[in-house]
Formats: sequence, structure tokens, C-alpha cells
Amino acid sequence: MEPYSPGKPIDDVKRELGLERVVKLASNENPYGPSPKAVEAVKLAAEKMHIYPDGAARELSLALSKKLALPIENLIMGNGSDELIHLIGLVFLETDQDELVVGDPSFSRYDAAAQIGPSRLVKVPLDSNYVHDLPAMSRAVTKNTKLIFIANPNNPTGTIVRKAEFDRFLDDVPAHIPVVLDEAYFEFAQGAADFPNARDYVLAGRNVIGLRTFSKAYGLAGIRLGYGFGPAEVIDAINRVREPFNANCLAQVAGIAALDDDVYVQMTVENNRRGLELLADAFREVGAKPLESFANFMYADLGKPAKPVFQALLEQGIITRSGDALGNPTCLRVSVGTEEEMQIFVKALKTVLSPVGAR
Ligand SMILES: *Cc1c(COP(=O)(O)O)cnc(C)c1O
Repeated sequence: MEPYSPGKPIDDVKRELGLERVVKLASNENPYGPSPKAVEAVKLAAEKMHIYPDGAARELSLALSKKLALPIENLIMGNGSDELIHLIGLVFLETDQDELVVGDPSFSRYDAAAQIGPSRLVKVPLDSNYVHDLPAMSRAVTKNTKLIFIANPNNPTGTIVRKAEFDRFLDDVPAHIPVVLDEAYFEFAQGAADFPNARDYVLAGRNVIGLRTFSKAYGLAGIRLGYGFGPAEVIDAINRVREPFNANCLAQVAGIAALDDDVYVQMTVENNRRGLELLADAFREVGAKPLESFANFMYADLGKPAKPVFQALLEQGIITRSGDALGNPTCLRVSVGTEEEMQIFVKALKTVLSPVGAR
């Protein structure tokens, strides 16, 4: 197995390059810090962290059950949605004949879920618009297929599949195969036309598992909290293999408070929209092709190798993600930051990429 390679930590870059100011636009974190309501809740709960958490995360589950209008037996909490990806793999991928179908490129944790089995990983290239090729994915399904992951919006591309295509796909795929819709960027994408909301499919009794997280729009990446929803028998199976206290006591109260912090989430989503516009304009100005993003990051085809661009930006104190590790060597992924961070990035991008004489 390949070890997970995270975005470069800020302190490492400061030390290695002797820089004082480093802007991290590599891990799609919320640039505005955590939800203030969550911070208050965690401060209070810290006094009780000598007590084991509620293993069923009852209060948080009830809050989510209300918000999603789904029965509590359809819900499960995770130590980040990363943990749920891992657990779903453990439940459904049992032998080295079992197959997991994923898009390529998509989220690397899906690959790990298959490798742990070890089961077979079937990677289906995205279409020419960097969107999940659902017809090709349904053709890749065999009698050995046990699981399908679709990140919607996709990471690293930020693209989405639409409702009509997804409906057709679900009808094509045999009903015994769970289809995971990983909606880590749901809060940014939900307003898009024809966005297929995983929750609606679960309510309708389809074999769909939705995954969401508090790490992105809610600004709680460091405390680790995600959740899943799906058919009750699937949730029951995942519940059996999880650790009894996988959602820790601080994460649970932070989640409850953040769910209630509409002002913070709206501010985040609104600023993100402006940040995406700014990034798209900047990429176009330097002759790159940005993809339309429904998430809090942008993927752009630079039309030339991205690695030297990544390195040049790093030397200016800006951490991004180069697409060469993802199979798109000319693409760069950049998270939306604060307005100030975006200005710093845009200026650096122009010095790194402008044609000579056009500076
Ligand atoms: C960030 C991300 C996650 C992981 O979220 P955590 O809850 O922090 O584990 C899952 N899926 C995708 C597609 C992501 O980009």
C-alpha cells in the first residue's frame, strides 16, 4: 500500500524554505477558522473529557436526524468520513476476488479501502470534461463488484454528476451493490441545478450510502467528525465493525454546535463562491483552463507540467497540490482561501506563469 501523502504542513514549509509567511491552499480546509459556536461548545466540554464519550453519539445523531429528516437507524458517525470510507470497505470487500469500482482520478482513500482487503480496485477514467463517466462505470460492473464510490463533487476535480445521469446509473447497477455518494463538499454544491442529493435516494429506499463531513464547510477538520446515512441494514453492519467510541466527546459537541451555526456556514459558502470566481479569472488570465468547481477548491489545466509551477509557488510560500500524483500532470489543485490569501496566490501565479514580456 502507498502511505497517504497529505498536503505539506505549514511549519515544514516555513522551516525548509526559511519563509515567515506561508499560505496553505492544499487541503480544502475552511480558511475562516472553526465555527465560533463549536469553539465555545468544545471549551465547555473540555472539563468532561475524562469521561468516555456517548458511544452512540445520541444527541448528535438526533440533531442530524432532524436536519436530514431521516430516521436515526439510517445514520452513523465517523472519526471523519475517512473512517467511514475505511469501514465501508471492511464491510463489503471481503476477498481478493471482490471488486471496488471508482473514478480516476478521485479521492485516494477509496483506493486504500480496496488495498486493505486486499480486493480488486477497478479505476474508470473520468470523461473528457473531468466528470465521472457513469456509463463507463456501470459497464465496469461485473458479478464480482461489491461496492462503488462516487465523490460528488469529485476531489480533485470539483466536478459533479447530475441527477438524470445518476438516476440512469442507479437503474443500471444491480441493486445489491451499494453506491456510495461521498458528499464531503455538499454544503458548497447543494444549490447547483440537478444536484443529486444522496439523502433523497436513502429516503426512497435505494441502495445508496451518503457520506458527509464537518471538516470542510463547518471548519472542524482537526477534531475529526463525519457521518454517513444509508439503508438501516447497511448502517447496522458498519456499526458492528466500528470502534465503540469512534466519535470523540469534543467532536460530538462541536458537531452539534456547528450544525446550528447557519450564519457561519452561509458566510463560508458565500465567500467561497467569490473565491472561486477570482481563481477562475486568474487561471484564465495566465492561459490555464480552470474547471467549473462545485466545491471549495479549483482544478486547473495549466497546459504544461504542473510540478515546476507547484514548486515555484511553494518557494513563494504558497502550498498547492500538483496533479502529477493524480494522473493529471498538467493540472494544479488550489483550495479557496481568505480574500487576502487569494490575492497573494493570484499575484504569485501571475509572476510564475505569465508569458515573458507580459508582466
Ligand atoms: C476531505 C474529504 C473527505 C474526508 O473528510 P474527513 O471527514 O475529514 O475525513 C472525504 N471525501 C472527500 C472526497 C474529501 O475531499
